[in-house]
Amino acid sequence: MISHLELIEELYPICRSITGTGVRKTFEIISKYIPLETYEVETGTKVFDWEVPEEWAIHDAYIVCPDGSKIAQFKENNLHVMSYSKRINTSLTLGLLKEHIHTLPDHPSWIPYRTMYYDRSWAFCLSQNTLDSLPEGKYRAYIDASHKNGSLTYAEAVFPGTSGKEIIFSTYVCHPSMCNDNLSSVSVMIKLAQELANKNHRHTYRLLFLPETIGAITWLSKNEKSLSKIIAGVNLTCTGNRAPITFMKSRQKTSISDKAMKIVLDDMGLLYKENDFSPIGSDERQYCSPGINLPVVTLMRTPPGEFEEYHTSADNFDVISEDSLREMTSVCLSFVDTLEKNNTYINTYSKCEPQLGKRGLYRKTGGQRVNQVSQTAIKWVLSYSDGHNDLLDIANRSGIRMEEVVSASSVLEHQGIIMRISK
Ligand SMILES: [Zn+2]
Repeated sequence: MISHLELIEELYPICRSITGTGVRKTFEIISKYIPLETYEVETGTKVFDWEVPEEWAIHDAYIVCPDGSKIAQFKENNLHVMSYSKRINTSLTLGLLKEHIHTLPDHPSWIPYRTMYYDRSWAFCLSQNTLDSLPEGKYRAYIDASHKNGSLTYAEAVFPGTSGKEIIFSTYVCHPSMCNDNLSSVSVMIKLAQELANKNHRHTYRLLFLPETIGAITWLSKNEKSLSKIIAGVNLTCTGNRAPITFMKSRQKTSISDKAMKIVLDDMGLLYKENDFSPIGSDERQYCSPGINLPVVTLMRTPPGEFEEYHTSADNFDVISEDSLREMTSVCLSFVDTLEKNNTYINTYSKCEPQLGKRGLYRKTGGQRVNQVSQTAIKWVLSYSDGHNDLLDIANRSGIRMEEVVSASSVLEHQGIIMRISK
């Protein structure tokens, strides 16, 4: 089985942006590992308040120094050119060139990652050390790039179930050669898809690989009519560094996703940080916008923008680890498992407690297990199986592991004491 890191190594060299061959090449590679359906949405297509932009292609770029040497070579590092830069081939002084150069003075050896999708301009990204070494003189800035009508590409891996309900997982595929943001989550989604392909499940799982922001907006705009099927979702961003997990709630705050993710992280015994929803981040901004309001939570480690190497050339293989990535995939799989086992029941003996003893479900010594099922879990399930609270609610209220709540419910269901009302 290919590892997360091997997947990232294969995808790392590609120059991705929000449109174009980088994204398509990325999907070609992903489709070697999982079944993937790609979609093309034409330039100019109206998607809510936005329009699908022109497609950007870049072939080469560099700066020629006064002595004829070349720096900022795109072919050496694709971060050297601001994404969506326009074509340029011009001679200029160092002073004028500096107006088109981004650096990181606090990290003088790192190259920043910059984008400018919706204004036509151009820029290079250099290390501060390189900039400081440039002598006065005449320079040539050369960017062989084009903007033309084309399309935006996104992809889905779908694993159908029978319940008519859907769970989405989403991540973005528009960043060039950087690891944590965001090839980490691409690798987690591929590994998750490989596991889902080998499982029977009642719900449908739809894994979305999109360019950030415009891709999510485009997908939501094209799929607006089927959004009501979505009962839960997870957006993944920056999942591969060595920091503890951060779980950001959905805007709804108490959705199935919110309840299930908390249970998963607690039951796995992970140290994690729980944040309320904030509209400063990734594609959850679109999924949780007021008119869409999907139950989508976000899984990450250090939030984007809060780790030192964010959007720089230092976001490389030193930042991520196989263990962190593997743990994140396990969290996603556990989330799937939890949703698969979640049900809502009605207690058919709701007027006082049913007599458990005559059904072999009670032992006089309190707290003991009968047939491996916790007496406490049985009492909680009986008490809250009222047709409104699901097993997630019962696990959350009682603090009992989901696994035990599920075992209690299946024994009670088997004996006809509770009746399942969820599909
Ligand atoms: Zn980013």
